[in-house]
Amino acid sequence: MSKIVHGRGRGHDDPPALNRRDLLKLGAAGAALAALPAAVPEARAQAVKTGAHIVIAGAGAAGLSVAARLAERLDGAKITIIDARKAHYYQPGFTLVAAGLKPQGYVTSSTADYLPQGIDLVEERVAEFDPDGNTVTTESGRSIAYDFLVVTTGMVLDYAAIEGMETDRIGQDGLGSVYHSPQAAAATWQAMSRFADEGGRGLFLRPATEMKCAGAPLKYTFITDDTLRKRGNRGKAELVYAAHNQTLFSVPIVNEKVRMLYRERGVNTIHDRVMTGIDLGRKVGIFSTPDGGTEEIGYDFVNVIPPMRAPDPVRYSPLAWQTGVWAHDGWMEVDKATLRHARYDNVFGVGDIAGVPKGKTAASVKWQVPVAVDHLVATIAGTTSDSVYDGYTSCPLITRLGRAMLVEFDYQNNLTPSFPGVIAPLEELWITWVMKTMALKPTYLSMLRGRA
Ligand SMILES: Cc1cc2nc3c(=O)[nH]c(=O)nc-3n(C[C@H](O)[C@H](O)[C@H](O)COP(=O)(O)OP(=O)(O)OC[C@H]3O[C@@H](n4cnc5c(N)ncnc54)[C@H](O)[C@@H]3O)c2cc1C
Repeated sequence: MSKIVHGRGRGHDDPPALNRRDLLKLGAAGAALAALPAAVPEARAQAVKTGAHIVIAGAGAAGLSVAARLAERLDGAKITIIDARKAHYYQPGFTLVAAGLKPQGYVTSSTADYLPQGIDLVEERVAEFDPDGNTVTTESGRSIAYDFLVVTTGMVLDYAAIEGMETDRIGQDGLGSVYHSPQAAAATWQAMSRFADEGGRGLFLRPATEMKCAGAPLKYTFITDDTLRKRGNRGKAELVYAAHNQTLFSVPIVNEKVRMLYRERGVNTIHDRVMTGIDLGRKVGIFSTPDGGTEEIGYDFVNVIPPMRAPDPVRYSPLAWQTGVWAHDGWMEVDKATLRHARYDNVFGVGDIAGVPKGKTAASVKWQVPVAVDHLVATIAGTTSDSVYDGYTSCPLITRLGRAMLVEFDYQNNLTPSFPGVIAPLEELWITWVMKTMALKPTYLSMLRGRA
């Protein structure tokens, strides 16, 4: 029986507590880690021999990490990864690009750079999943049979659901949207920077659906606030945050902290408002209200964040939840502890596509992938695994330029600090800022190579 320990408290295997100087070194250390060669001789020596064919649908954060780990732990397996996108996006960096802190190129690299040796890359999208027939069909009509399937397609940003939204106008007339792409993040910075010079009303929001990195809309509001202050223009601006429900963040203690900080910084919050449309000419956002009506809110700058859903090939396949809260948007019906499909034993869903209560972050991917891989390898080996994913997710929540709070929690909303005594969860710290702006990217790249 194989076992991975996922305790989040500081145990004897955890790294020692970090001081300020150590944290500064983290970026460089992470970079060095990322540059390590892909194969670990000891792991290969214990690799499970198999002729199984494993298909991975999606070569983003989760797909590449799964591929790297499977390549290490299996000997003789045929591994195929399918994704039409050649570029790899380091999405946690989009916010830094949109804050004017990093260039657009900081978040873009190539998928091919992270592919382990011996993996087949099919540069297409999966158009259809047939878990009863153990096949996927690509958009060109190619049918690929598998013994095991790992679905890592992430999600789609449903901009079309916002009437009047035109993504090619991001960056113009006060229209921002950090999530769309690296180009849009850079264009959003141009629009936000103009706003920080001129003032007016800044409008911020989040969708009512599940979303990746639910802290990102909040932190971009903080970043805009501080950019205005740094330019001496905060008095010329009104900032409005439109929350989709009664809270700003799903974890109560974090919600209270953000509420307090918004009050302190003069960010006006309104609740139960969901953007349904936008008039780009008049610069007006249109929001649904709890009484079934709509309300218009004018803006000089807006950060549009659209609803997020499972990609159609998953959403309309038997892999999606058929009933319950995750059925409507098509998230995959997986067991929240193992990431194994609830009805198809040879299928796993990892990363943003997983229909689990928490965890649409790269930080969750880091903790989900070893669990899913452990169960998959155990099945191939004819054993079982007791690896468990506890819902860990985290968000370095920037609260001003030079300060951030490291918010880490699990399925039960327990705070799960990784560096107790060094990084207090709800404090605005410089050390957490350094982590977000310097150390996370090398760690993320190491994760893609199966080493973090
Ligand atoms: C603005 C922003 C800020 C964020 N900030 C943070 C942060 O601070 N911390 C953090 O941990 N996380 C953050 N995240 C979230 C994090 O980036 C995601 O949770 C993570 O990338 C999820 O990995 P994934 O592999 O599931 O999806 P992705 O990395 O999005 O990869 C999905 C891949 O699947 C492919 N695909 C889609 N459909 C198909 C198909 N039909 N067939 C084949 N392939 C397909 C796509 O082309 C893509 O390559 C942020 C995200 C954004 C957008």
